[in-house]
Amino acid sequence: MPTDLEVELQTEVNRRRNFAIISHPDAGKTTLTEKLLLYGGAIHEAGAVKARRSQRHATSDWMAMEQQRGISITSTVLQFLYRNCYINLLDTPGHQDFSEDTYRTLAAADNAVMLEDAAKGLEPQTRKLFEVCRMRSIPIFTFINKLDRPTREPLELLDEIEQELGLSTYPVNWPVGTGDRFKGVFDRRTRKIHLFERTAHGTKTAKGEILDLGDPQIEKILDQDLYFHFKDELELIEELGEDLDLDQVHAGKMTPVFFGSAMTNFGVQLFLDSFLDYALKPIPRRSTVGEVPPTEPNFSGFVFKLQANMDPKHRDRVAFVRVCSGKFEKDMVVQHARSGKNVRLSRPQKLFAQGRESLDEAYPGDVIGLNNPGAFAIGDTIYIGPKLEYEGIPCFSPELFAYLKNPNPSKFKQFRKGVTELREEGAIQIMYSADESKRDPILAAVGQLQFEVVQYRLENEYGVETRLEMLPFTVARWVAGGWEALEKAGRLFNTATVKDSWGRPVLLFKNEWNMHQVQADLPDLKLNATAPVV
Ligand code: GDP
Repeated sequence: MPTDLEVELQTEVNRRRNFAIISHPDAGKTTLTEKLLLYGGAIHEAGAVKARRSQRHATSDWMAMEQQRGISITSTVLQFLYRNCYINLLDTPGHQDFSEDTYRTLAAADNAVMLEDAAKGLEPQTRKLFEVCRMRSIPIFTFINKLDRPTREPLELLDEIEQELGLSTYPVNWPVGTGDRFKGVFDRRTRKIHLFERTAHGTKTAKGEILDLGDPQIEKILDQDLYFHFKDELELIEELGEDLDLDQVHAGKMTPVFFGSAMTNFGVQLFLDSFLDYALKPIPRRSTVGEVPPTEPNFSGFVFKLQANMDPKHRDRVAFVRVCSGKFEKDMVVQHARSGKNVRLSRPQKLFAQGRESLDEAYPGDVIGLNNPGAFAIGDTIYIGPKLEYEGIPCFSPELFAYLKNPNPSKFKQFRKGVTELREEGAIQIMYSADESKRDPILAAVGQLQFEVVQYRLENEYGVETRLEMLPFTVARWVAGGWEALEKAGRLFNTATVKDSWGRPVLLFKNEWNMHQVQADLPDLKLNATAPVV
């Protein structure tokens, strides 16, 4: 007989889904997020996400930077209730200058929504984020946005995903016309056409008309050639396309595809309904004691992100924990795997667009924010019961490198302290030249903004003004087998050798081409784009 707690956990796991959105800036992530919340009843007027963001900016000093740039540096976790299910959106920044946090957030997600601009298709940042999803084979749901505007051919967009990402596609709905002639989508689940209405910027949930495929009205509403074109395409995808195979979806090999227009609310609800049915519920997670199922009664979770100084008045630091098993309760005392210490989880926070509310309980698939200054590092496991540790979150290949110089020797101590603390927090990776005479730390970032954040914080929190000296590299690879393997490889050309914070050798290359060249010359030298955190 399952215990009451086991029954409760099973029920709560069944009604939870979590996901992160992967997209390139401008594809419509903010807009889609708002519309999803709108359907979830979490907000009543779209536009609230942006408005709330700027309210928060006003209260936060270092967020002034965010405001100036008009971008979001930090990410929040949004939870909303839809059809009696809790959906957790692990929100990630959408700006070009994204950081390692974007990658780390994906480590906590069970599903990803790949958002594309229909006029552009796959774009660079989306491809990079997809690679991170592929490492864990998480299910990818594709939302092709901006159908109200001129687009590329829908079939071509599917083909691009198949050819370039190696995913098979299953269009769950199919557009009828695009751009000025966009008339709606055909939902293959119900075999009905949802007609598109141009609403006033879609601030309310759209109530478009729904017709059966054979309805005689259709030919009146749609131009004949448009209707025939749509029928031809539909026939093609139904005859030649693959059937929906949820096992393949869950293995990250097939992506369900949805067409819509987030700005006008069109197709968002259709998407949400299918997502709820097709997405993975919170999954078992790999640990040192094997896979831990979410229904395991003992609580466990891991830290995937730290965020400092959300409110400079309090100098606080929030650790974002993904709950993996058991039930989280306020004030519970857990074990901290790395230090072996007991930690009381007081002042837990639920993170939400509207700000931070306190939280009394949470279940697997949820994210909680903990205020335990200094206690946590990225990748840390907390648990109750027999000891376990979840797989760490890897370091991802940085793409920008710069020497960080402290021109004022009297500030050396503060400089060193700041650099160490910001590294521990995961704000940036720090590397050092293998040449011992070069002592300046090398900042290694995924996005330019990380440099600015580090310099800004060194100045404001540690009182050190610094200078950057950019280095001409764009690719980093960790050498499998360490220094020994590197020595064996002999002389290397067109690369610089540095060491990461753990003293491991890393090769820096000017570009991918140089890296491939070295790999082709030295097939025995194994290079990795990510490295485990020690
Ligand atoms: P993000 O950078 O991915 O967060 O993108 P935003 O949500 O800020 O959207 C970028 C721009 O695209 C904004 O001007 C939006 O109004 C616009 N946009 C978003 N969705 C749609 C859509 O479905 N149709 C059209 N025409 N524009 C859209």
